[in-house]
Amino acid sequence: MKTDIDKNIKIDENIKKEKNIKIDENIKKEKNIKMDKNMQAENIHKNVDEITINDFVTKNDKDVLELKKHVLSSGSVVPLLHFRKLNELSMIEHCFTTRLGGLSTGMFDSLNLSFTRGDDEEKVLENYKRVAEAIGAEAGQIVTTDQTHTTNVLRVGKKQCGIGVTRKRPYTDVDGLITNEPNVVLATFYADCVPLYFVDPVHRAIGLSHSGWRGTVNRMGKETLIAMNREFGTEAHDVIAAIGPSICQDCYEISQDVAEHFVDEFATTDDPHASDILLYKGAGKYQLNLWECNRRVMVEAGVQEDNIAMTNICTCCNPSLLFSHRASHGKRGNLGAFMFLK
Ligand SMILES: [Zn+2]
Repeated sequence: MKTDIDKNIKIDENIKKEKNIKIDENIKKEKNIKMDKNMQAENIHKNVDEITINDFVTKNDKDVLELKKHVLSSGSVVPLLHFRKLNELSMIEHCFTTRLGGLSTGMFDSLNLSFTRGDDEEKVLENYKRVAEAIGAEAGQIVTTDQTHTTNVLRVGKKQCGIGVTRKRPYTDVDGLITNEPNVVLATFYADCVPLYFVDPVHRAIGLSHSGWRGTVNRMGKETLIAMNREFGTEAHDVIAAIGPSICQDCYEISQDVAEHFVDEFATTDDPHASDILLYKGAGKYQLNLWECNRRVMVEAGVQEDNIAMTNICTCCNPSLLFSHRASHGKRGNLGAFMFLK
């Protein structure tokens, strides 16, 4: 923890060093993003069968995620994102959903997974059934979080299957789920916040957790690994992890008070990469890189850098393909991260 004086020095230095350069860069970046978004907005009108990974705006050229189009027994097509690094692990199935392939309409169009934002519950349940079938499971196997930006992690098993989907949730304030039981489908929800996936191939255990800015400052990734170590003996060194689709630094403007939490926790005055985390934009506004913060949390907790896959897809850069709270000004459904041990 640093003092207020250190914070001020850091911020002053940022202003001096970065203000002119960064503001110019931001203007350039924003122009490019706007052009990309306009080009990409047309893709929502494409047939689901025609959507490919190339229809997503990406932040770099890394081949991190693939889009698989799952054809269900009904003939419906559900396109889902999958991390290539997690696909290599035959002991699990996982996905990150898109807006495509569901039944919901209007602002929930179409694969909304929230029962509590005003959508028709029957349609939401059918959306869950579609995702479950696409990954080789059933809706009654799913266990959901009750996300309130805590760092609470709950161990679940077969007894909890169906919670939050086919039956009521008996718990509140759970942002992370862990299990070592096969066929228990963990599910967490997003519309800009960061999904964290953890697989321990040694102890055959998994974890899935929700990390918004509060969860990131409070090191949700580390808390999930601590819970996996306590319950299953997981060593961070063995873990394969992924940081899922969520808001990128270019889209995520924050105010001074939020920035100060990150200066306290992540940026140091002698850190040459501090601007990887916070870019000063002027007028007390910063651009925050939640992806890099969560990566650092994992590395600090002992996960090997080569074992971490980081998204290059931003929810806010792809508002027609993914739900984004910022891009939609709150008028949106929920995306989901799902994972289970086979
Ligand atoms: Zn973005």
